[in-house]
Amino acid sequence: MSFSPRSTGLLQSIEQVQAALSQTREEAFAQLGPAFLTRLPATPLPAPYAAGFSAQTAALLGFDPALAQDPGFADFFCGNTTRAWPPEALPYASVYSGHQFGVWAGQLGDGRALNLGEISHDGQRYELQLKGAGRTPYSRMGDGRAVLRSSIREYLCSEAMHHLGIPTTRALCVIGSDQTVWRETQESTAVVTRVAPSFVRFGHFEHFAANDLPTELQALADHVIARFYPACTQADDPYLALLQAVVEATADLLAQWQAVGFCHGVMNTDNLSLLGLTIDYGPFGFMDGFDAGFICNHSDTQGRYAYRQQPQAAYWSLFRLAQALLPLFGRQYPETGREERVIEDAQRVLETFKTRFGPALAARIQAKLGLATTQPGDTALVERLFEIMQASRADFTLTFRHLARLAKRPPADASADAPVRDLFLDRAACDAWLTEYRTRLASETRDDAARANAMNQVNPRYVLRNHLAQNAILRAEEQDFSEMERLAAVLRHPFDEQPGQEAYAALPPDWAATLTVSCSS
Ligand code: AMP
Ligand code: MG
Repeated sequence: MSFSPRSTGLLQSIEQVQAALSQTREEAFAQLGPAFLTRLPATPLPAPYAAGFSAQTAALLGFDPALAQDPGFADFFCGNTTRAWPPEALPYASVYSGHQFGVWAGQLGDGRALNLGEISHDGQRYELQLKGAGRTPYSRMGDGRAVLRSSIREYLCSEAMHHLGIPTTRALCVIGSDQTVWRETQESTAVVTRVAPSFVRFGHFEHFAANDLPTELQALADHVIARFYPACTQADDPYLALLQAVVEATADLLAQWQAVGFCHGVMNTDNLSLLGLTIDYGPFGFMDGFDAGFICNHSDTQGRYAYRQQPQAAYWSLFRLAQALLPLFGRQYPETGREERVIEDAQRVLETFKTRFGPALAARIQAKLGLATTQPGDTALVERLFEIMQASRADFTLTFRHLARLAKRPPADASADAPVRDLFLDRAACDAWLTEYRTRLASETRDDAARANAMNQVNPRYVLRNHLAQNAILRAEEQDFSEMERLAAVLRHPFDEQPGQEAYAALPPDWAATLTVSCSS
């Protein structure tokens, strides 16, 4: 196998990608050893073809877009070539456990994901993971596959979230196949290549804690600290500092989700990232009409992960993470009384979720409303807006986007307010709120144009609405991937006006209300 040094430029061939993967293998998560993972080749996928390719994610990895033209591209990124890899270099599935819907589920793991290894580029390292590459020792009853529908949703949403500025795993490509699997119906399968600095989840820690493996637990924590939170090593208690860092990253992530109306759908502890990345796109959804109780996951009958519950669900999961890390805390304390002090410390750190999340979200909402200053009545103003949005199921994305166009002074012609007013069934309630909002805006020195400009940088015009994803999926199922790439291109500039693309910013059609997305993916 020939190896081209990275200094010669971007990787253009599969051979070069393979060589680059081999080069960084020594320092990967895989070095933690066999208690953490199982190496195995992917299950062969018949007649694979490239369905989608993100040049943006490729650039992150130092891959030339020409890579997608390599005749071996589809075979490589569905895992077909891994059968020829030497045993010590085979891809691996990692083991984790977790709480699903609030209940301890025991051992889970990468049941359909295989890690190819790491790529190092521009001083950053990224793990490459094939999702849907076949069964692993952690598949339980699953078939190890992912369907084309969900793979496209993951591909599109990873791109959308990243370009909204929200931390997320990325997607490099989608490889399709005519192989089918059974979900609610027969569906074709696909493999999506995901990219992230790390795929470590809360559940990885829960696994080693639950199995009473303190050495492995510590090794995992040390790996995460060394690679992603090196500042923790300076703290009195590095592991408590790790918890603090994850609390902060998670609180910030949740504030970002809430601020764009994103619902994850399955916030189980095995689907929460140690790095505060949005991970495991399944039955996620961006809200159309605002409903604080919005449940995007059809399988979530109790609404555990409803929009308004998400921050609480994150806090609950952090509590589980803290519990898993407990054996590592408090080494600086003498033996006697250590346990009490450790529990107190952990509780204190967990409480900072609330003091971090609340202000983080408030700051985002303030920016969404174009308020450059904070004033006493602001909380009430925001609450009343969400009340009338809720009552009218006003479109979440468009309400904020259209507010940017509102003139500070009441217009002579009331029709100037139509873009916002028309989103509300109860026009009188909308008018009353707009009057209040204008009074508030009058106390700001910024002019309308400057405020509009600032608001348009935080209120997206384009989000991955369910019906947009569905349109792309229906076309892709007919082997036409142009709509998917068109949509991806629009979502890469969510804050820009993009003349000609208005249809992607429009209210959802009536049929969108009948779309359901479940855990089955
Ligand atoms: P999720 O909540 O969908 O991210 O997945 C929960 C667990 O089920 C994880 O351990 C997954 O790896 C596993 N899983 C989900 N779907 C499949 C599948 N089709 N085959 C094997 N394992 C799966
Ligand atoms: Mg998962």
